[in-house]
Amino acid sequence: MIRSITRQKSDEEIDHLLDGLGRVFIIGCGTCTTLTRTGGEPEVRAMKERLSGQGRLVTGDMVLPVACDNLTGEALEEYGQQIDQADVLLIMTCAFGVQTIARQLEKMVVPALDTLFIGKENGIGQFDEICTQCGTCVLGETGGICPVTSCHKGLVNGPCGGTNNGKCEIDSEKDCAWTLIYNRLKDLGRLDSMRILQKPRNHQGEPSPGKFNLSD
Ligand code: SF4
Ligand code: SF4
Repeated sequence: MIRSITRQKSDEEIDHLLDGLGRVFIIGCGTCTTLTRTGGEPEVRAMKERLSGQGRLVTGDMVLPVACDNLTGEALEEYGQQIDQADVLLIMTCAFGVQTIARQLEKMVVPALDTLFIGKENGIGQFDEICTQCGTCVLGETGGICPVTSCHKGLVNGPCGGTNNGKCEIDSEKDCAWTLIYNRLKDLGRLDSMRILQKPRNHQGEPSPGKFNLSD
């Protein structure tokens, strides 16, 4: 069993990410972020109240049973109209859930949480890395595509000079992450996000060995 451990971004950071986006649809997760009390029913409700108090229009909210599950698309369909009315999806799930949702919908996404580390893993399996839980999630500025794991060099401020016809210079079989991000932001009409400079990583955001205590 894998548990994604998350921490809510500060109100200031969330407000900054939502700058200019007045209509918001909020999505929580009934699994990991419910257990960690960062994105379950009570937290989604509190976020709704806070944003409504700022004068934003919350077009709707939902708590997906398992945001990172493949059935997420079907659950989202039930809220199609409320989602259509929103400028942005504010997502209170781990980054895996944010990416799963971003793949299903042509919508700008903003993560309300930072994903810190995987809580537990049991059994022998095969996994593709999609999130290193870097502690400073930039998905809100990259159209929901993670540059830390999708780019072979983990570049967070645009492509290296080796992009070749949309393919990566290190693995020509693989799409260049920054070409994917550029195309995604272009489709969303948010190419302005490409100009945002990501600051050097704060490694204090990566506790090692990972610890999490609800009472902290
Ligand atoms: S930027 Fe990438 S690696 Fe960092 S938390 Fe977000 S999805 Fe995970
Ligand atoms: S070609 Fe694209 S994916 Fe490959 S290392 Fe450069 S920026 Fe990253």
